[in-house]
Amino acid sequence: MKKRVYLGLGTNLGNKKGNLENAIKNIQEIEGIELTGISSLYATAPWGKTDQEEFLNQVIEIETDIPPLDLLKKLQEIEIKMGRERKEKWGPRNIDIDILLYGEEVMDFEELKVPHPYMRERLFVLVPLIEIRPELVFPDDGAKIGEVLAKALTIEKMEDIRKI
Ligand code: AMP
Repeated sequence: MKKRVYLGLGTNLGNKKGNLENAIKNIQEIEGIELTGISSLYATAPWGKTDQEEFLNQVIEIETDIPPLDLLKKLQEIEIKMGRERKEKWGPRNIDIDILLYGEEVMDFEELKVPHPYMRERLFVLVPLIEIRPELVFPDDGAKIGEVLAKALTIEKMEDIRKI
């Protein structure tokens, strides 16, 4: 059965817009994936490690019947193909692809946690996600995305993110 899956994309190296386009093209070419939603691009201040270039972020919605761990593997292959170097945690990268939500599933494996453990705090995930799916409800605690965003905004500021 097909599941609705949300992916978070981020880049802060090289041709950032081109990197996002390229990643989405590669994702669409995977057999069994249908692209059903795409957010605007958002420029965001770096998170975690702040002395680096601004990021460009985007969220996409896909429908797929590829099982979660197989999907993660395929996405990691795209990251590698696009030349991602894993030098340091939260350091610069030409593409990062995260599985944010996988249908209604809640998973807590070392290699795959959904909902993505940091997504509730990150404006660069929540703002593009609410743009494409304003009625979204979190599968683990039933929270509405609007409430989650409002909570995140008590810590981070809307000035930290800019729609392109
Ligand atoms: P990152 O450096 O942010 O790309 O982290 C990648 C690591 O996080 C990989 O070892 C993944 O197996 C693990 N991981 C855990 N949950 C997720 C998720 N929801 N999406 C992508 N990677 C995940």
